[in-house]
Order: sequence, then C-alpha cells, then structure tokens
Amino acid sequence: MINETYKAMLGGKSIIRELSEYATKRGEKIGYDNVFDYSLGNPSVPCAEDYTKAIIDMHETMNPMELHGYSPSTTIPSVRKAVAESLNRRFGMQYGMEHIFMTSGAAGALAHALRAVTKPGDTVLTFAPFFPEYTPYVEGTGAKLEVVPAHTKDFQINFEAFEEMLTGDVMAVLINTPNNPSGIVYSEETIEHLADLLRQKEKAFGHEIFLISDEPYREIAFDGKSVPYPSRYYDNTLSCYSFSKSLSIPGERIGYVAVNPKAVDADLLVPIMAQISRGTGHNCPSSSVQLAVARVLDETSDLSVYETNMNLLYDTLVDLGFTVVRPGGTFYIFPKALEEDANVFCQKAKEYDLILVPSDNFGVPGYFRMAYCIDTEKVKRSIPVLRRFVEEQYP
Ligand code: PLP
Repeated sequence: MINETYKAMLGGKSIIRELSEYATKRGEKIGYDNVFDYSLGNPSVPCAEDYTKAIIDMHETMNPMELHGYSPSTTIPSVRKAVAESLNRRFGMQYGMEHIFMTSGAAGALAHALRAVTKPGDTVLTFAPFFPEYTPYVEGTGAKLEVVPAHTKDFQINFEAFEEMLTGDVMAVLINTPNNPSGIVYSEETIEHLADLLRQKEKAFGHEIFLISDEPYREIAFDGKSVPYPSRYYDNTLSCYSFSKSLSIPGERIGYVAVNPKAVDADLLVPIMAQISRGTGHNCPSSSVQLAVARVLDETSDLSVYETNMNLLYDTLVDLGFTVVRPGGTFYIFPKALEEDANVFCQKAKEYDLILVPSDNFGVPGYFRMAYCIDTEKVKRSIPVLRRFVEEQYP
C-alpha cells in the first residue's frame, strides 16, 4: 500500500506555486511583460560572477577524481574550514570546521537541524508570519509545529503569546530573520529578550531548548544595516544558511548548518547530522558546488535591485493608504489587505494582472505578500496598475 501521509499532502498544493503557474499561463496569453507577477521568491539577479569563474576554473584545473568524487559524510573538510573562518571573521564567532555541516540549501539545513535536536512527538515553535514550507519541514520529522501569533504592529516577536506557548514539550524554536514574508529583521533587543526567555525556560524545564535560526536572507539587508546574528546571543543555536539568495544560485542547492561551539553536545551534532544524511538519502551536496562556494564565501551577487524595488513599492503602498511595515531586508513586503479576506483582495488584484499572495498560509489572515525579486522597470510599470486597482476597487 502507498504511504497515506504523503498521499494526503498531494491535496495541499502550495498557493504560491499555483499563482506562479497561473502567472506563467496568463503570460503566454497576454505577454509576460503584462503580468505583474509578485508571487515567487526566485532571485532575479544573475549569480555572482566569481562563482561562475570558480566553477570554470575548478573544471579546467582540478583533478577530476577530487572534483567529482564522493564528499565525506560530514562534508568536505576544506569547505567546512573556510565556512567556519568566514563566519568567525564576520560575526566574531569561534567555529571550528567540526561545527559546520554542508547541506542542500536551507531546506536541507533545516531538515538536519530539526532532526538532530528533536524526536517525533516533540513540539517546535515558530512565529507568524512564517514560511509555509515550515509545516512539511517540521511535520516530516514527526515533530509538531505550533505557531505563535504575530505581533502585527512591527512583526517583531509577540512575547506574551510566546511565553504562554513555551511549555516543557517545546524542544526547538524556529526563527527566520530577515523574515519571509514580512521582510522584517529582528532587532538586537528582540533577540536578547528571546535568548533570556529561552535560558530561563531551559532551567525551569531541565532540558535544552535549541534555537534553529533560518537565515537565507542574511545578506539582503537595507539602509546599510547588518542583521544581528542570533547565535551570538544564545549558545544552543543551530544557524541554517543558504547561498540560494545571496549568490543567486537556488538551483545549485547549497547551504550549511553552523553549530554554536558552546551548544550542548556541539561536537556531536555534526556527526549526528551525517547519520541523518545517511538515513534520509541526502548524502551531501554536490562536491563541486561545495568547493565552488568555499571560494566566494564573503561575496554576493549585486543585490541592490531589491532595495530599489522595496523603496518604490513601500512608498507607493503608503501613498495608497496601505498599512505596511517597512522591510529591513529580503525581497518581500507584507501589507495589510484593503478588505478582511485577503483571498478576495488578491482575487480582485488578479483581474488587473497583479499577482499577489494572500497571507493565510503564512499564519496571519488579512495580509498579502509581494515578492519583488523582479526587474525594477516592471515594478515601475506596475505602480499605475496598483493605483488603478485600489482606486477602482476601494474608492
Ligand atoms: N527558508 C526560507 C524562509 C525561505 O524563504 C526559503 C526559500 O525561499 C528556504 C528556507 C529554502 O531555501 P533553499 O532554497 O535554500 O532550500
């Protein structure tokens, strides 16, 4: 008999994917230039030039046995060492290579981090609004995902609700800063408060509560600000990273988990992840891609277009009367819809070929997400359309 759990998941298709597929079909009909597709978080800038150069150079000069050979199960030592050194330089950490495990993107990093510190039946807490894929990521491990309601004023943490939900069953807390879908960066104050509360509850419950910090947008920060690095504030932290957005290489499937050296059992966690990798068939990201990112760790693609787009959209949305928190990073913005049901709002927007994602799946009803990883020229052309939509539908 086939697996009923996975069969049941077939019915729950991602609304983001559905809207993106709709936009593509609509584009075939009326020309893709005329569809303002804000649905999918797919990077819209070319990958960093030095990444391409690294790939070419490696293929031309390296011993093919080394380049294409199996990766060790704990991933490639020279790559882990380079990642540790880069993080130490940038964030004042003390990682050794033994704390780094290379993965297939952030999805792979989260799959390993979650399995390493929870067991089936445990509770994992996250905060609304959240990336909808967290549901399958967490439920796939057998743990339960519970969602702390949003603090809609600024999308920092709703500490009152969090404290109430932080019971003895919670073994891990999953955060995402800068955040998909709100674009919000957790302030230092938020992270300090979170860390204090976790330490207090660890003592009260007599067990660790691991912080799993999902950071694929760490380098997409606005206003010249940098993003506070959560692991600096809380020892039991597993930082999950992806090069998908910073280098614009989502299809290469590369990221890592960095285990805080002061975490409980820090030296065991990477070998444990190697065992998880073995059991799930992950068995390491491609050797050549591991080696290539190690050569460009401190670089990014030209990410400036995202800030340009954010400013254009934020100013327009404010001007049109939307309630919206200004993003501090990512390529998302998360305004409140102009009517209670965001699904109806987004359906009406679709009539104007504005493809917006209703917020229900992000754990906060009544909002919508715009992924502005598109050409600035198209953002500019979408502004009069957005204006017409609002003026006609919500006079
Ligand atoms: N976490 C968040 C918040 C994301 O937005 C994404 C992708 O969009 C991921 C994880 C998965 O990233 P990756 O493509 O590197 O697996």
